[in-house]
Amino acid sequence: MTLIEPAPRPAASVELTIRRIASGAATGSTCTPELQTAPWKIDAGPDGYGPGSSMGDVIPVGSPRQGALPAAYRQADEAELTRRIRAAKETLGDRVVVLGHFYQRDEVVRHADFVGDSFQLANAAKARADAEAIVFCGVHFMAETADMLSGPAQSVILPNLAAGCSMADMADADSVEECWEQLEELFGAEPDEAGRAPVVPVTYMNSSAALKAFCGRHGGIVCTSSNAATVLEWAFERGQRVLFFPDQHLGRNTAKAMGVPLEAMPMWNPRQALGGNDEATLEQAQVILWHGYCSVHKRFTVEQIEQARAEHPGVRIIVHPECPMPVVDAADAAGSTDFIVKAIEAAPAGSVFGIGTEINLVQRLAAEHPEHEIFCLDPVVCPCSTMYRIHPGYLAWVLEELVAGRTVNRIEVDADTTRDARVALERMLQAVPKPLPVPGA
Ligand code: SF4
Repeated sequence: MTLIEPAPRPAASVELTIRRIASGAATGSTCTPELQTAPWKIDAGPDGYGPGSSMGDVIPVGSPRQGALPAAYRQADEAELTRRIRAAKETLGDRVVVLGHFYQRDEVVRHADFVGDSFQLANAAKARADAEAIVFCGVHFMAETADMLSGPAQSVILPNLAAGCSMADMADADSVEECWEQLEELFGAEPDEAGRAPVVPVTYMNSSAALKAFCGRHGGIVCTSSNAATVLEWAFERGQRVLFFPDQHLGRNTAKAMGVPLEAMPMWNPRQALGGNDEATLEQAQVILWHGYCSVHKRFTVEQIEQARAEHPGVRIIVHPECPMPVVDAADAAGSTDFIVKAIEAAPAGSVFGIGTEINLVQRLAAEHPEHEIFCLDPVVCPCSTMYRIHPGYLAWVLEELVAGRTVNRIEVDADTTRDARVALERMLQAVPKPLPVPGA
C-alpha cells in the first residue's frame, strides 16, 4: 500500500491562503468570498454543496443534512480544537483511526493517521481491524466504501454529513435503473454468440454504494482512476458495450486512450428519452457515458496549460483524468492522485510541475517538495466544496463524542447493498492488467 504518512504542516494551507487573500495580505483570487464562511453556517442555510467548486451544481433532494454543531466547537479557535483533537485521539488510542483524503484541508489532514485517495483509505480502514471507529475525513461515498470493506463491529464516521460529492450525486440509483430498463428494452438481456452481454455497467469508485451494488447485480464492476483501463478491458471482454457512470471525462479519456473512437461514445443525459440518443447511435456505441462530471476538475483549461508553458519553460503538466478531454490531450501526462504524487516524488530536484487537480493536494505537495516548483494550473483558489465541509470543529466533536461513549454521524450501508457492491468491488480487485507484448515474441 502506498499511503503517505502525514507530513508536517505546510507553511501556507489553502485555508490560510483564502484568509490572506480576503484580508489583502496576499494577492490572488478565490472563486467566492463565502469560502470564509464557517461550514456550520452553511449547514444551517438552504440546501447546497457549499462554497467552492461545486457551488453551482444542483444538490439532489434528500441529500444528508448535518445537524447543529455544539457551540463549544463553533466558538473554539484553531489552537483549542487542535488540543482537543489530540487529547481525544490519545484517550482513544488504537480504538480509533482517522483517515484524511488528499483533498482535505491541512488543518484536518494533520490529525490523520493515514492520508491517501479514496481506495487507499478504504484499504487502510480494512487493515486496521483493531479500530472500533474509523473517522473518515473525506466525502460520503468514501465513508460508505470504508463501511462495506471494514469489519461488522467497526463503525465508520463522517464528521460532517453534508460532505457529499457533487459528481457522485449526478448519477442517482433511480436514474441509472431507468436508463438500464431503456437499454434492456432496446438490446434485450441475452448474450451474443461470443457470450458477451448487451451492456456491462461500470461505475467509478466515486459513486454511491447503491450504484456499486447495481453493478454487482448486473454483471458489472467498479473502477478507480488508477485502474480504469484495466477495468474497461475486463468489461469489453464480457460485453458488447459499456455503460460508464458517473464521470463522463474519466470514461472518455480512458476509452479514447484505448482506441475507442469518440463517435462510439455517446453521452447519456438522464433527463431525456434514450439519454438524448437515437437507437442507431446506441447500437453502435462501445461506451455510453453518463452525463456527470467533477466540478473541481472541470475548472482546468487548455488556456491555463498554454499560459503555464509560456511562463515556465520546461514545466511538466500533469492533470487528473477527471479533467475534460482537451485538457488531458494538452497535458504531458494524466493520472490519478497517486500517480501525481509518485511522479513528483520521482522527479529530479529542480523540476517544475503545473498540476491539474484539487488545490489542497497541490499546495501540500508544493510545501512538502521545496526542491521543486509546483503550482496549480488554476490560478483561482477554489477547493472541493464538499471536502471543505469537514472542519476541525467537526473532527473534535465526533472524537470527543467517542470518548464519551457515543457514536455520532455513523455511515452504515445495509447488508444487501453491501453484499452486491462487494461483488463489483471484488471483480475490480481480480481484474489484472493484460501483460505487455514481449518484444520479438
Ligand atoms: S473533487 Fe470532485 S469527485 Fe472528488 S469529492 Fe470533490 S466533487 Fe467529488
